[in-house]
Amino acid sequence: MTSTDASLAVYDAIIIGAGQGGGPLATALARAGRKTALIEREHVGGTCINTGCTPTKTMIASARVAYLVRRAASYGVRLPEGEVQVEMGTVRQRKRAIVESFRQGSERRIREAAGLDLLKGEAYFVAPKELEVRLADGALRRLRAETIVIDVGARSARPRLAGLESVPALDSTSVMELDSLPSHLLIIGGGYVGLEFGQMFRRFGSRVTLVHRGKQLLAREDEDVAEAVAQILREDGVELLLESTPQRVEQDPDGQLRLSVTTPQGERQVSASHLLLATGRQPNTDTLNLEACGVHTDERGHILVNERLETSVAGIYAIGDARVGPAFTHISYDDFRILRTNLLEGGQASTRDRLVPYTIFIDPQLGRIGLTEAEARASGRRIRVAKMPMSAVARALEVDEARGFMKAIVEAESGQILGAAILGIEGGEIMAMLELAMLGQLPYTVLRDAIFAHPTLSEALNNLFSSFADER
Ligand SMILES: Cc1cc2nc3c(=O)[nH]c(=O)nc-3n(C[C@H](O)[C@H](O)[C@H](O)COP(=O)(O)OP(=O)(O)OC[C@H]3O[C@@H](n4cnc5c(N)ncnc54)[C@H](O)[C@@H]3O)c2cc1C
Repeated sequence: MTSTDASLAVYDAIIIGAGQGGGPLATALARAGRKTALIEREHVGGTCINTGCTPTKTMIASARVAYLVRRAASYGVRLPEGEVQVEMGTVRQRKRAIVESFRQGSERRIREAAGLDLLKGEAYFVAPKELEVRLADGALRRLRAETIVIDVGARSARPRLAGLESVPALDSTSVMELDSLPSHLLIIGGGYVGLEFGQMFRRFGSRVTLVHRGKQLLAREDEDVAEAVAQILREDGVELLLESTPQRVEQDPDGQLRLSVTTPQGERQVSASHLLLATGRQPNTDTLNLEACGVHTDERGHILVNERLETSVAGIYAIGDARVGPAFTHISYDDFRILRTNLLEGGQASTRDRLVPYTIFIDPQLGRIGLTEAEARASGRRIRVAKMPMSAVARALEVDEARGFMKAIVEAESGQILGAAILGIEGGEIMAMLELAMLGQLPYTVLRDAIFAHPTLSEALNNLFSSFADER
């Protein structure tokens, strides 16, 4: 490290946030000989490993076991009499152990990278290419670099709700630290975080009520997809209040929470033991003092970037959930790949035309890729829609998990697949098959006519692409 004076450390590159893109990028830069600082205020690995994907999917696995155990008799497996008991302490311990091992793995990779300094503290701009870092012990460090990458992620947003400041409320992080089961969990928000926790806690044994403002859950999905998801959750015993607006929350002297909600049927009071806020995420850009560097954001605080992830200031980039665009781990990781190509290999990589797959880990999963039917129709293209219930899939019937449907949108002239929604067992994996076809620009007929092993879920793609609505 070269220093202009004792208090200013000069690096080739500084990465703020050891998230899904920032960690790998810092390592790649250091390995390429760039003197790099990585600043992290909490845990290496960011949201995904510590409080997002890893812990939720670990706990969803526990919930699925409880679900299958309750259904054991229908498979001819008899269990000792009595209710299924879920020990939240053990569920939490299993989650903590997996998170800890993933986090340690990430931290080890970073610490082993030569030329990379990991600073544990909070960073904020003091000048266009200068940062101050408040270290965990309170000490201040000043750093400068010509290349700065912002990967600060996002945190749970708190909705505006009268009375909220006076009641205990959980967010997606604290709800996973409960050591006993809520008797009645009330969730505000019908996006994927609310749905995953709603089904999970229902399966653990809580009563669950989910309040959602919109007419349908999962606002961006096609109506038929959202309706089928709602049907599945209702079957599992989750009470859904749609088109419902929370007005005020209070806590009774006995500790019970009471939420007043405006529903299409009129005012309603919902009592519950616990409240989970799942009303979206807000970017962690508010503490960066961006005014000092001139980086622009939108009105919600997401950093504005072009398709090369460049901000309004030359040499400063933003990746992951903190910038405008899709907020998923694999997209933050792809942002890293784009910057690696452009900063280290002199390439011209960009976000243009990249496919954005995602899976919502309710059970059965919803795997999504490309355009929805509504988006495809709005684009003015001539399309064909293939749709088939999972109850027509041999493999799904054999394992007795035949809820949901597969749907694919195809461009009529070219036969190219434009998008798909697979709501079914292992829907995320089946969706990846369609993604591969899209990446390879294969027409749907290749999947319709391919030989897949029997009886696999993938084999159902033969029949899906023989099931166009206009042929029935
Ligand atoms: C409950 C939940 C479940 C999720 N499930 C999935 C899933 O199944 N699949 C999926 O793809 N995505 C999922 N996500 C989203 C996923 O976690 C994020 O998209 C991903 O972590 C974003 O990565 P990132 O690189 O943008 O930042 P993050 O991983 O959020 O990392 C940002 C890092 O920056 C640090 N930081 C912030 N400000 C500063 C500062 N000023 N100074 C220093 N450090 C700072 C933070 O401490 C953090 O470690 C989930 C999220 C949640 C909340």
